[in-house]
Amino acid sequence: MLSTAAVGDAPTRTLLLNASHEPLCIVSVHRAVLLVMTGKAVVLEADGSLHSERLAMPLPVVLCLNRYVHVPVRRPVPPTRRTVLQRDGHRCAYCGGGADTVDHVHPRSRGGRHEWTNVVAACVRCNHRKADRFLHELGWELEFTPRAPRWSVAFGAAATRAEPSWSRYLVA
Ligand SMILES: [Zn+2]
Repeated sequence: MLSTAAVGDAPTRTLLLNASHEPLCIVSVHRAVLLVMTGKAVVLEADGSLHSERLAMPLPVVLCLNRYVHVPVRRPVPPTRRTVLQRDGHRCAYCGGGADTVDHVHPRSRGGRHEWTNVVAACVRCNHRKADRFLHELGWELEFTPRAPRWSVAFGAAATRAEPSWSRYLVA
């Protein structure tokens, strides 16, 4: 019924926001179109347009539900090597280079806990240099405060290929 004529590399997934504008999930464009057609959601961001015999509408990239839905509290994503690297964009918190490891800012051997606020992505070199020392002992500083991720990591693999137009809706 619906065809995305001549859309080329147009997005095939749509970010669905709750009525409160909090990210809810990622849906297929097909489902996104149904949500719009049934009046359940409105298009916030579009990329190109969608055509069928009877219909032409913007191709939804970000949608917002018209009515707020209650979502059960998500189980927090635990900090693992994969999720920490993902949160920090695979960049070393200390030198900005490519990161492969996770470092405990407050060293575990000195009472630091394995929790989101105490872990950062680090390259092997910095991790090795830092070892079990505190940042002030090395004269190092963190340029950001580590926090639990809210959305991008929770969305898992789908968010690693997030559309650029989603970014401002996925900010923690
Ligand atoms: Zn480094």
